[in-house]
Amino acid sequence: MKKLNGTIIVTYRCNARCTMCNRYKAPSLPEEEISLDTIRKLPRMYFTNVTGGEPFIRTDLKDIIRELYKKSDRIVISTNGFFTDRIIALCKEFPRVGIRISIEGLEKTNNEIRGLPDGFNRGYATLKELVDMKHPDVGFGMTVQDKNAPDLVPLYQESEKLGMEFATASLHNSFYFVEAKNIIHDRLMVAQNFENLINELLNSKSPKKWFRAYFNHGLINYIFGQKRLLQCDMSFDTFFIDPYGDVMPCNGTKDKEVMGNLNKQSWDEIWSSKQADAVRRKVRCCDRNCWMIGSVSPAMHKYFYKPFFWVIKHKFLRFFKKKKYSMYELKVVRDYRDGKISKEELDKLSTCDLTASVNNGLSTASKEQLNKKSGEEIVAEDIKGQGYISK
Ligand code: SF4
Repeated sequence: MKKLNGTIIVTYRCNARCTMCNRYKAPSLPEEEISLDTIRKLPRMYFTNVTGGEPFIRTDLKDIIRELYKKSDRIVISTNGFFTDRIIALCKEFPRVGIRISIEGLEKTNNEIRGLPDGFNRGYATLKELVDMKHPDVGFGMTVQDKNAPDLVPLYQESEKLGMEFATASLHNSFYFVEAKNIIHDRLMVAQNFENLINELLNSKSPKKWFRAYFNHGLINYIFGQKRLLQCDMSFDTFFIDPYGDVMPCNGTKDKEVMGNLNKQSWDEIWSSKQADAVRRKVRCCDRNCWMIGSVSPAMHKYFYKPFFWVIKHKFLRFFKKKKYSMYELKVVRDYRDGKISKEELDKLSTCDLTASVNNGLSTASKEQLNKKSGEEIVAEDIKGQGYISK
């Protein structure tokens, strides 16, 4: 069996309060979260992303990573950077693990969006400490929206100074984010900031960054509600698994789609099941057009020629014709500028649905705990018991 690309959602507990994600209101019950026994049943993976919620809320994260290294060549953990001591301790034990800290803008913007007290300084201090200890694989992740788009290039420049990776995303709606109302309002302004970043990336000497430029070009295409630049093959060679052991195609669907449950079944049983095939058929006609690194990175490897020719074209134009990248190479952006398509029409193409009720993907027991307390209270008490004060 060929190696897969997997994302392990180890918990739905989160101590941040991001404006674009309501997951912190819908935490999982710790007792139900994916166990080491279930992790041992996962297949071989060429890339594994460990995410949450906030993965470092789990006190046994080191044990999880140790198990995952038995089946994965490369592991990257996405975190809000709050649990500095745990992050540093884990990186000391696993010097090859990648760490991506979400920083949503410069200090003021980040703290407003993330809702973590002193979140910027804390995340930044964690990053600095990792750089100082020469941890080789460290980076920022930023979810670009109206509020923080002007910080995009300054943050990229900051990451350059620190010698770090810089990953971008934009607003998505799905059960995973417990959100249906995310939308970009000033598309031209946001796209302009992406254009500036793309030109910085294309100007660099690193081929990896030229391909990042293509990814960001795809983000402009996404925020204008267009068809994905590359086919989505989630559930064919890529999977997500949630804290309850449910194997899913991705985290972008409106409602949770389940291929099988790894607590109860073997991997092979799930992967070759009729239920998995039914999910794959849905993926083939999915019109959500997400552009998140989890679904785009495998597609960029698989359909390499498309980003490759895009990069060659733009390097050629830049080098021989002194022509920079322009967002107006996308027809929809020209049409919007020229008044051929309105904001209302573009809004309808997005996945924003102001009337949608969101399925948060929680188990019955996890939902029941919300009858007595809010998700914020549950998590605050939880991490207080672990010796941390959040909000
Ligand atoms: S476009 Fe792909 S990643 Fe997005 S919801 Fe559809 S199947 Fe999932």
